[in-house]
Amino acid sequence: MRLTLLGTGAAGGIPLYGCDCRDCRQALANLAQERAPCSALLEWGEHRLLLDAGLMDLHRRFAPGVLDGILLTHFHVDHVQGLFHLRWGPAAPVPVWCPDDPAGCADLLKHPGCLDFRPEMAHGRAWQRHGLHITPLDMVHSRPTLGYLFEHGGRRLAYLTDTQGLPAHSLALLQAGPALDVLVVDCSFPPGAEGRNHNGLEQVMAMCTQLQPARTVLTHIGHEFHRWLRTHSLPGGIEAGHDNMVIITE
Ligand SMILES: [Zn+2]
Ligand SMILES: [Zn+2]
Ligand SMILES: [Zn+2]
Repeated sequence: MRLTLLGTGAAGGIPLYGCDCRDCRQALANLAQERAPCSALLEWGEHRLLLDAGLMDLHRRFAPGVLDGILLTHFHVDHVQGLFHLRWGPAAPVPVWCPDDPAGCADLLKHPGCLDFRPEMAHGRAWQRHGLHITPLDMVHSRPTLGYLFEHGGRRLAYLTDTQGLPAHSLALLQAGPALDVLVVDCSFPPGAEGRNHNGLEQVMAMCTQLQPARTVLTHIGHEFHRWLRTHSLPGGIEAGHDNMVIITE
């Protein structure tokens, strides 16, 4: 499996609109230092799944037919805003697998256009797509949200965002099997911050103790945590993701 982190920012991203701190000024001047909305591209063999759709230039990045489909974690705006533009195109229907959250986001489900929403994702309901084994996992967030365990070629990669900790039943599913090769996980806040709906670094460290992943990559990084990372180092085995980072499991 090859996972490319297309965006690693929390809602608001880096640069944060109107912020004059050094990091935001640098990111304004240099695209490579931006943190776009949290999303990723998973590739295996000839196949590609887009994980979340918060980027606003999906039409430029992915010509019709390039993606097998889109897999959504949840319907918060920073994870689906790119779909509002795509839906009006004359493209062939694009499968969008998602949690069963009838509220969706604004009128996205009511007027899906070329998007073929399939609200079939539910905790533990594993399925396969061209040899990729996908297990949705309940997350702890302010609306129905699923993380995903991907298994292919004997490797296991979990993409867990947005979440604050993990429910016991999700932890149990992740622990049933060999240790994860890669854990990509929501870490929005620096240590000591009063976070809600998202992990801070302490929670990620606790998760690492429970799951013992070979490699942990942080995503959904908030503004203060981004600044914290500039002057602190992370514990061994944990690294901060960045936009366009490529993670290969085989
Ligand atoms: Zn700033
Ligand atoms: Zn969210
Ligand atoms: Zn989010």
